[in-house]
Amino acid sequence: MTLDNDLELAELVRKVALLNAMQHGGSAQAGAIIGKIIGERQELKTKVKELSGLISKIVNEVNSLSIEEQKETVEKKWPEALKKEKVEEKRLPPLPNADKYARVVTRFSPNPDCVLHLGSARAILLSYEYARMYHGKFILRFEDTDPKAKRPVLEFYESIREDLDWLGCKVDEEYIQSDRLTIYYEYTERLLRDGNAYVCTCTPDQFRKKSLASKPCNCRDLPPEEHLERWKRMLTGGYTEGEAVVRVKTDLDHPNPAVRDWPALRIIDTEKNPHPRVGNKYRVWPLYNLAAGLDDHLLGITHIIRGKEHLTNKVRQEYMYKYLGWEYPEAIHYGRLQITGAFLSKSKIVQGVREGMYKGYDDPRLATFAALRKRGITPEAIKKMIIDVGPKTADVTLSWENLYAYNRKILDLKSDRYFFVSEPVELKVTGVPKDFHAKLPLHPEKPEGGFREYTITPKGEEKAMSFWIAKKDASTAEVGKVIRLMELFNIKITSIKADAVEASFASESYEEIRKTKAQLIHWIPVGEDVPCRVVMPDASVNKGRAESACKKLKPDAVIQFERFGFVRVDEVAAGLTVYYSHK
Ligand SMILES: [Zn+2]
Repeated sequence: MTLDNDLELAELVRKVALLNAMQHGGSAQAGAIIGKIIGERQELKTKVKELSGLISKIVNEVNSLSIEEQKETVEKKWPEALKKEKVEEKRLPPLPNADKYARVVTRFSPNPDCVLHLGSARAILLSYEYARMYHGKFILRFEDTDPKAKRPVLEFYESIREDLDWLGCKVDEEYIQSDRLTIYYEYTERLLRDGNAYVCTCTPDQFRKKSLASKPCNCRDLPPEEHLERWKRMLTGGYTEGEAVVRVKTDLDHPNPAVRDWPALRIIDTEKNPHPRVGNKYRVWPLYNLAAGLDDHLLGITHIIRGKEHLTNKVRQEYMYKYLGWEYPEAIHYGRLQITGAFLSKSKIVQGVREGMYKGYDDPRLATFAALRKRGITPEAIKKMIIDVGPKTADVTLSWENLYAYNRKILDLKSDRYFFVSEPVELKVTGVPKDFHAKLPLHPEKPEGGFREYTITPKGEEKAMSFWIAKKDASTAEVGKVIRLMELFNIKITSIKADAVEASFASESYEEIRKTKAQLIHWIPVGEDVPCRVVMPDASVNKGRAESACKKLKPDAVIQFERFGFVRVDEVAAGLTVYYSHK
């Protein structure tokens, strides 16, 4: 039996296609359907080509229906499929040893040398969600102790706070490391006095040679008094940048040479590279492991949740914890999360914005939270995606499509529908017999949410009426064919030119042309339109016209342009500017 004669299969494809179409604004995606069908009918694995043909035929049929018709069909034939899938709210696995602590405390600790982007989402959301899950505390700690190579920028402190706020992660306490230098100095002195750290004045090369041979450098075994003396000199200007570094002692034969006597503090010439907050007040600056290691204990962090690239840092810091008689917090190291196609290099983002390659930190080409916000990506979608991935140690690769799928589910239910005509072409319809009143629901599933209404009044002897239609629709029209203006009436194309299409009124009811699989297109009456610019994810601008009801929209509204995609309204003035989210 060929697949074309398998009626049962055709019905299954139709059902899956209809459900898929309803989830995608009326337009089913063949690619998603094939997987589902093979999932249910394994034997078709060997007939993918034939099956694709069948699916694309049925998808075309399904996509020619309006969303309402799609829904009606499903309601009639497969009412059970419409019952809301019970969505289990996915929960995070428990934290290790949470009972050991009176209160779970987590932290997110960014360097304000860039705005936040999708790459930080996991650290933020897991830390915040765990704190919330255990009624604990979530701390924001700015790690801004490198005024030279990873120079913090004042405006980013604020934009990071805004991003966390937008993500719904309420910060219980905030600390800024550049305010805490004297605390780090105090502990450094203790480590030096106890002989657990030393001031090394070797050149990097001299030190490396000794270290690789598991040998102490010339400084290491000098008495603590000498190191305290050198430390004072570091603080007061007796050494210049690069001449001295404080090292924390480790086993010299530690199997990982990168752990051996790790650098803890160094001199930065803040006359040349002033810190944006504290200027040239300090010249000795802690490196990551000293500052973060001390702070995690001093701020009472119970659970550190971070990427596995920090595993070696834990090994380094554990030496310092032992010297200070402290217990290392619980540490959860998750795997790498890659998002295909998302550009996440902080230095390149900052450079690109400075050099004008990007319009700003919210340029739609970037994966910054500011850009995602501008494009109508909801924080709920980001959060759901991150929680579904969880803190597992295996590496995970996601795509923009994954994020869009989460976002679509959220937007689909709450976004009002409007017509947008991309690259408008005028369509003149003659012979319209009477006035028509189009009443279009703002949301097909929520008639109580209201309507957009347009009255079509034919003019002159020709009883003519003009509409804007999309160039894409105009280019697929054929003379002699009947097509339907969605929710309005059917027309027969009489002439097609580059910038104008003419048609005559054919009939009113959809039933009459249903069997002909006539194409359904959207339209805007000429005069009932507002110019609309859609900024696409690649920063190109798609110019067109939106229906006049869009003039009432407020900035930040996320709507769906039917047969086009979801967009976020950015500006409503003489015209509309919107940012494209996704299909
Ligand atoms: Zn040395």
